[in-house]
Formats: sequence, C-alpha cells, structure tokens
Amino acid sequence: MPYACMAWHDRGMTMPAPEPIRVLVVEDERGLRLGLAALFETAGHRADFAADGRNGLALALADPPDVLVLDLGLPGLDGLTVCRELRERADRRIPVLMLTARDALDDKLEGFAAGADDYLVKPFAGPELLARCLALAQRHRSGAPNEIAIGSLRVDRRTGDARRGDRPLELPRIPARILLALAEAWPRTLTRSELVDRVWPHEVPPSDPLRSHLYVLRQALDRGAERPMLVTVHGVGFKLVADD
Ligand code: CA
Repeated sequence: MPYACMAWHDRGMTMPAPEPIRVLVVEDERGLRLGLAALFETAGHRADFAADGRNGLALALADPPDVLVLDLGLPGLDGLTVCRELRERADRRIPVLMLTARDALDDKLEGFAAGADDYLVKPFAGPELLARCLALAQRHRSGAPNEIAIGSLRVDRRTGDARRGDRPLELPRIPARILLALAEAWPRTLTRSELVDRVWPHEVPPSDPLRSHLYVLRQALDRGAERPMLVTVHGVGFKLVADD
C-alpha cells in the first residue's frame, strides 16, 4: 500500500471515544478502500464505500453521510464534479474532505471552489484522516443545516451571522468573511495567503489587508472572554480554537 501507516489500529483503540459518525468514502483504489474500512470500523465509526463518482454521488444524495471522503481522480464523474453536483442537489450541507495526489496539489484551490471543506494529500496517515473527519462532522452537527459550531461559536455560512454563546458578534463584512473562512477550515491553521485568497477570491486585495480586519474580529470575538478563540500561529497564519 502506498500510504502505509502501521499504527492505525493501535491509535484507534487508544483515542477517546467520540460520537460515532457515518462516513461515505468515494475512492477507486481498492487497497485504500480496505484500509479505510479497517480504520473507521476499528475506531467505532461506520463507513460506506463507492468506487466511482456516479455511484458516490447517488449514495450521498440518497442517504447523506456525516462526512464525504472524496477522491479527486475518479472514473465516471471526477471528484470536483461530484462535489459541485452535491452542492447543487443535496438538501443539506454535507461536509466534504477531498483526497488529492501530490502532483495534483494545485487542484486543491479548484477543490475548494467546488465546495470542498478540507483536503488531504496522498499519501496520508490514517489517524490524520480520522481526526479531520471527526472535526468536520462535529462542526456541522449543531442541528441547523447551514450553521458551523465550534465550542460556543456559531457561524451561519449563508448570512455570515455569528454569535459566541448568547452574544451576537456585530461584524463588518470583511471580518465576517475572515471568521467564516477560519470556521470552515477549523481546526486547521490558514496561512495568510490562504486567508487572503478566501476573503478576496475574485479581487486583488489591498496591501497588508488582514491586519485591521483581524483586529476588529479579535475585539468582537474575544473581548472579555476567558479563553480567546482567534489564535495567531507565528510565522504561519491564523486559526480558531474551541473554547470548550
Ligand atoms: Ca483515484
């Protein structure tokens, strides 16, 4: 197997037991499907599988999973098309984690444009995939179909409205977009350039564009809070941390 990770089973056993999730894996490599079946089942989760894009899309629409793990290069419909179709046709937001080969890494931007929520580059470690799937499932599980939940933070991905606990965050447009980008990437760190790409996707951003908007966001989100949620990762970028 090209993505060997011998510790899958051990790691699965020793992790604290999170709520079981149901994952749909759309992947044409049989060896990878078998590895992922063992990974999810050993950790107490349920995984279903499709070997091509058309079946994967049909299964996801018929019985929406908590997380869709979607290979980019697939026979039939490719991963980007599946993702686009899913976004158009599904009646709820299904979080999508895209798998991509290293030589197709540029496609990750295209993948996000098609509506993927996260991505992993092959070869990847099993525990990393599992952790990303659990994070995706958790932040989509608040009950409201378009709401992202991270600790006490709620962000509506359509309107950009956000609140922390009972306190609504009155955010101007750009800080609200920054918060949504960070919430969609959670728990990952976004680099400055990733963040700029997501906040100004179709425009040339102003110079040093983030500084003042991050200040406004930090004031609104973390002022007076015991545990700040917006964290600067020095030399890398920014991320949100859950406050629970
Ligand atoms: Ca493939």
